[in-house]
Amino acid sequence: MSKGKLGLNTICTHTGEIKDEQFKGAVSPIYMSTSYQFEDVEVKRYPRYYNTPNQEYLSKKIAALEHAESALIFGSGMAAVSTTFLAFLKSGDHLVIQNPLYGGTSNFIRKEFPKYGIEYTFTDGYQVSDFEKAIQSNTKLIHLETPSNPLLTITDIRAVASLAKSNNIVASIDNTFASPILQNPIDLGIDIVIHSATKYLGGHSDILAGAVAASKEHIHQIWEVGINLGGSLSDFMVWMLERSMKTLGLRVKAQSKNAKKLAKFLQNHPDVEHVYYPGLKDHPEHELAKSQMKSYGAMLSFELNNNLNASEFLNSLELIKPSMSLAGVESTMLLPALTSHALLSQEERDKLGISNGLIRFSLGIESKKDLIKDIEQALNKIRH
Ligand SMILES: *Cc1c(COP(=O)(O)O)cnc(C)c1O
Repeated sequence: MSKGKLGLNTICTHTGEIKDEQFKGAVSPIYMSTSYQFEDVEVKRYPRYYNTPNQEYLSKKIAALEHAESALIFGSGMAAVSTTFLAFLKSGDHLVIQNPLYGGTSNFIRKEFPKYGIEYTFTDGYQVSDFEKAIQSNTKLIHLETPSNPLLTITDIRAVASLAKSNNIVASIDNTFASPILQNPIDLGIDIVIHSATKYLGGHSDILAGAVAASKEHIHQIWEVGINLGGSLSDFMVWMLERSMKTLGLRVKAQSKNAKKLAKFLQNHPDVEHVYYPGLKDHPEHELAKSQMKSYGAMLSFELNNNLNASEFLNSLELIKPSMSLAGVESTMLLPALTSHALLSQEERDKLGISNGLIRFSLGIESKKDLIKDIEQALNKIRH
């Protein structure tokens, strides 16, 4: 069968599986060896070299899903982010980085870059003009994130990619929130796609991992730094991730469908003040999202009416878990101001538009009617 013709769910299920020649088992065997007899002088397999059989084969699945030539798997999303940044930036170089941005990435830049003499500018906003304004003569990397956390803003991927290209700058994206099922940035001109595989790729809240997909040349550049930083993933967890990714397409589509339905339910609810979801027609970048995503994702945020207390609401839920995590098959909610964005000052949160009552909702695969019932009963409890 020609590889290019495989459908999304076939890639999820089969691409990069290791055939069990000895026993004809249904799933890939796990190779836990840290030592491999030399086949020839070129291949030196070692887990920190990202080239054990399980690491090498699962990379093929991730590359295929992201329409990339090559990929690497990391021990966490932050290992993928930090290794990529340090592969393209050295002392005296400059990074243009999107604001809003995942908190861990932002902390990494603010705390570590000064030690290496790497310069950076956070954009004022997520419009292409904001990126353009931030570029300097020593800018070597532009990094964006869309949909963003927690307000689900949408950045124009094609426009930022073309801005980077015309200035001879490498462009990377954090594609965690969309997953490769809903958004393929390489098709839109981006060079490097980064994932926290802890989220949708893993999908069951039991794996910490990361991934990067790009051209062979860029992956080699990242690999050369990666073997020194040592952020590779153990083969057992690589195997777990392969198992999880077989259902990636099914899960993300079901979760995204739930998000669309719940966004509409919340928007029409008298106790809800505002819903942030790119799939809603009144979202400022709805048309842009439509042009670069296959569906609108499984994350949304909302605000209750002023007289209702968001913390009380979260504590009154019975099915939906108040929790830090996102993207699992179970639905979760959190208050960014108290958790994911608690390290920002009130002023910084105000600037980003993150109100103290904002609730971030990560949709799972539960039946829509049960999610609605849970929200209704929680609202009934706090409406007094
Ligand atoms: C969680 C997350 C990360 C960091 O990933 P870890 O696996 O926790 O290291 C990076 N970017 C985004 C958008 C995330 O949600």
